[in-house]
Amino acid sequence: PAGRQAWHQKFRARPALSDNQRIQDRMTIKTRFAPSPTGHLHVGNIRTALHNWMFAKKEGGTFLLRLDDTDAERSKEEYVDAIRADLAWLGLASDEEQRQSARFDRYEEHLAKLKADGRVYPAYETAQELDLKRKIQLGRGKPPIYDRGALDLTAEQVAAYEAEGRKPHWRFKLDHETPITWTDLIRGDQNFDPALLSDPVILREDGSWLYMLPSAIDDIEMGITHVVRGEDHVANTAVQIQMFQALGAKPPEFAHEALLVGTEGKLSKRLGSLGVSSFREKNIEPQAIVALLARIGTSDSVEPIADVEQLIATFDFARFGRAPARFDDEELAQLNQKIVHLLDYEDVKARLPEAMDTEAWAVIRPNLHDMGDVDQWWQVVTGPISPPEFSAEDREFLTVAHDKLEVLEASSDLWKDLTGALKEETGRKGKPLFMPLRQALTGLDHGPDMNALLPLIGREVALERLAKTNI
Ligand code: GLU
Repeated sequence: PAGRQAWHQKFRARPALSDNQRIQDRMTIKTRFAPSPTGHLHVGNIRTALHNWMFAKKEGGTFLLRLDDTDAERSKEEYVDAIRADLAWLGLASDEEQRQSARFDRYEEHLAKLKADGRVYPAYETAQELDLKRKIQLGRGKPPIYDRGALDLTAEQVAAYEAEGRKPHWRFKLDHETPITWTDLIRGDQNFDPALLSDPVILREDGSWLYMLPSAIDDIEMGITHVVRGEDHVANTAVQIQMFQALGAKPPEFAHEALLVGTEGKLSKRLGSLGVSSFREKNIEPQAIVALLARIGTSDSVEPIADVEQLIATFDFARFGRAPARFDDEELAQLNQKIVHLLDYEDVKARLPEAMDTEAWAVIRPNLHDMGDVDQWWQVVTGPISPPEFSAEDREFLTVAHDKLEVLEASSDLWKDLTGALKEETGRKGKPLFMPLRQALTGLDHGPDMNALLPLIGREVALERLAKTNI
């Protein structure tokens, strides 16, 4: 909607750098968010996307949306569209977009080189055979690491498999002699013994790619400087570091963030299905999601900050904790309410009833739990309203109120002058003075400050409402 344009325009996509520019400008920070379009983004993905985006913005870098759509069967265009739309709604515009499905040639080319270098090898075990191997290892109290049986196959054995119609899958051969180390921007120094990892399968027997190698190739060729993702990828990083090296590239920096958990302290199914559509249904503002996800799990407190540039300014991997980040719907709802109270008329104009102007927004805004309440309060202004039944004394009092309002000067301060005159005339004060008036004028016994609301309702409508109570 147009109301969100200011927010979007601040971060309008920059044109992607040409390869030449990128080579000249190696130090340009570039992050990527790499979802597989096999489903909708959930709050955990959104958090990862946000952190990649914030870091790129903070560093004046580039934020790439990379669609990991090598799985032709499970990847759907509908999800690609939904991912783009969700990111746009959140204000996380990408500067560049790439799709893995357009890059199979690149992967084949690198695979050929890795084959020539002896860094990948064919293996013929079936899933069942591999499963059996693992069970035997576990039975002997050993870790279930792939035993590299494929490397011992004789030419005859390979020929026999091929004659049987078996197709190989391909594994990346880890270098057992070179320990894997990196300094993670969140987790600090990391060390892995490659001999304790299985050589990962990179290409299936049906020719489809697994995620690991294409991702490393893309990170190299697209000039990614920082890989920011969940800590569930730490072991993948260990393997990918050797892939970067085997491909002749320096690995990027890595930041693995602690995972997101629900209030129950677990990785819940519920969080896995919580995405932009459920936030929109609950009238949660994108700024509230951004403010929450920018800060949970960090040493900075969650604050109602609607201006994302303020959040970007405090973004720092050093402030990310190692404990899981807790996502609490109640915290989001409360933050959302505070954010709504900060939104300017221009931010929300497109979502307001047509006749509602800046003044009306200012009067109604403090009463909103969320934007879904706007219509209800606007109806208090425009009607119809349904006031309660009044007692005989109150009816009489409201008749006096009607007559007083009728004779107020056009320039008068309606509410102040009306209640002042009534107080003097009837001797009522406090609740007996204000409540029947509020009820007769709004149909409710709570709501916006009457002083601000009455001018919105207008003298004419107010007179009608007061007159009605006495029929
Ligand atoms: N497509 C991968 C995933 O969604 C990307 C992980 C990564 O950031 O490298 O898990």
